[in-house]
Amino acid sequence: MSNRNDVSSFSSGSPGQLSERHEESSISHLFPRLGFISLYVLNLLTLGLLSYLLAPFTSLLFFDDPRFWRHWHKFHKLTLRSMHHTLALLRQSEYSQVFHVPWLKAPRMSPDRTRLRVRPEWLRLHGEHCDGCTTCCERIDCTLIDPDVKGCMVYGSFFWKYFTCGPFPENRRQIDYYGCEKWQSDV
Ligand code: SF4
Repeated sequence: MSNRNDVSSFSSGSPGQLSERHEESSISHLFPRLGFISLYVLNLLTLGLLSYLLAPFTSLLFFDDPRFWRHWHKFHKLTLRSMHHTLALLRQSEYSQVFHVPWLKAPRMSPDRTRLRVRPEWLRLHGEHCDGCTTCCERIDCTLIDPDVKGCMVYGSFFWKYFTCGPFPENRRQIDYYGCEKWQSDV
């Protein structure tokens, strides 16, 4: 996905936006993720209250914008997504097996082109973009699809780049699980 109008909380973006030079692993990429996970757990324990108490920071992490008054009407959807995701991890073995956080990898705006390629038939019909496809988001009932802009409401944010959306898909198993018809991979 290269713009917000391609509805997907998961990336399928144009190549090279955060380029392959960032691909090497580094412990420095671990700490922001651990910090985020700490807030994620605390927010769940407070049933979403923390996201409002830390409103400017929440807004920055998810909307790339500390002006929380522009975004806090969406904060409840972040908590709903967190709850849904956590329950799925605990209850659905296939979901938890396919789920993967690239803890040490640099944040990404698109999948790793050394491991994946766009299927020729998709390329012919849609080019490099997701072209309005919502399949992977619908597969997990993602609450972060913005019906107003018909796109991912957290596209390009810290959360989006550092966790599963930006690097998605990472392998054939994810492609199959999420039913993506765009990407193919040998790994
Ligand atoms: S399923 Fe594939 S093509 Fe569709 S939005 Fe997700 S990544 Fe893009």
